[in-house]
Amino acid sequence: MPFTDVIKSYVKSNTDALIDLLTALAKIPAPSNHEQLRAAFCKTWLEAQGAEGVYIDEALNVVFPMDCDGDRPIAVFMAHSDVVFPDLEELPLRVEEGKIFCPGVGDDTANAAALLMSVKFLLENDLRPKNMGVLFVINSGEEGLGNLKGVRKIVEDFGDRMAEFFTFDAFNCHGVDRAVGSRRFLIEATTQGGHSYNDFGRKNAIAVLAQMITKLYAIPLPQKGKTTFNVGTIEGGTSVNTIAQKAQMLYEFRSDELSSLLQMQDAFDAVLEDCKQSDAKITCTLVGDRPCANDVDEDKMNTLKARAEAASIRHFGQSITYSSGSTDCNIPLFHGIPSLCVGCCFGAGAHTHQEYVEIDSLPKGLGFCMELVLAHF
Ligand SMILES: [Zn+2]
Repeated sequence: MPFTDVIKSYVKSNTDALIDLLTALAKIPAPSNHEQLRAAFCKTWLEAQGAEGVYIDEALNVVFPMDCDGDRPIAVFMAHSDVVFPDLEELPLRVEEGKIFCPGVGDDTANAAALLMSVKFLLENDLRPKNMGVLFVINSGEEGLGNLKGVRKIVEDFGDRMAEFFTFDAFNCHGVDRAVGSRRFLIEATTQGGHSYNDFGRKNAIAVLAQMITKLYAIPLPQKGKTTFNVGTIEGGTSVNTIAQKAQMLYEFRSDELSSLLQMQDAFDAVLEDCKQSDAKITCTLVGDRPCANDVDEDKMNTLKARAEAASIRHFGQSITYSSGSTDCNIPLFHGIPSLCVGCCFGAGAHTHQEYVEIDSLPKGLGFCMELVLAHF
């Protein structure tokens, strides 16, 4: 029987199991850097399906290598376990009008469930990869505060052998094929401060940051790619009649072009240097660093896209459109590894409490995921 028919019959007889797995997984809290509960669930689940050699690494990735020994090249399939919600209690889930509502249900739990169910198919049928090892990962740290911790660890451990990389982390039809790199900084100003009337004339930490912001917003944007910057928060000061002694802000810049990202870094360094004054102390801490793509083989990228497109047409009846974005692909793309971010469900409201997935898209997504995985079997 060709794989297409096998996929169809597996999906049909496993749709309930897929939904059960998704609802169980979605309720488990998993804020970035605290993915322990979900990781343990996924490891136990995989072992119950017969997976051998599953481990949880120090970054809290659940890793299942299939024939990845020696120096074989490796294909990676991953979906992330963490959600943006800080809750450590069970996440609220409800099913209504053909939709499953739960924070994080689409980003990225439905994709993780499709990947796990694809692995179950391989195990049930005793399939082994043909040309290269295949590494399945339910990874940690994809969302903002995770700073791509999980994928960094995977690239550190397997990067020199990674031939291709898929992450399932999007709603279908919206893929990501270019990496938006970013740098994020916590900038703090400290001054002597004092009484607003009696000590008038001394440096004010808030004013120091305000001057700095004016200079940051005057940086000309690089020409190549799309580049943005933002001061996201600012806080500080003590009271209306106190010359502010402390103030801090969060600043970031982003670009989908490596040279532009570096240009922004130079401009930022110059502003920082310029703002350092004898009577105000300015400290700057890098709190986030996501690289851009670097020298990725275009033909190999197109091969991955062609595979994803064929699978999307077959299972969703729709094409995938691509844009640039910040995903787990940033790290492998920076190392020149062809990488694609695609999705296994339809839904909306990512990063909100109203997030949902459409139930009838889930079996289609499972078929889509299986087809991409089965290219190696
Ligand atoms: Zn995500």
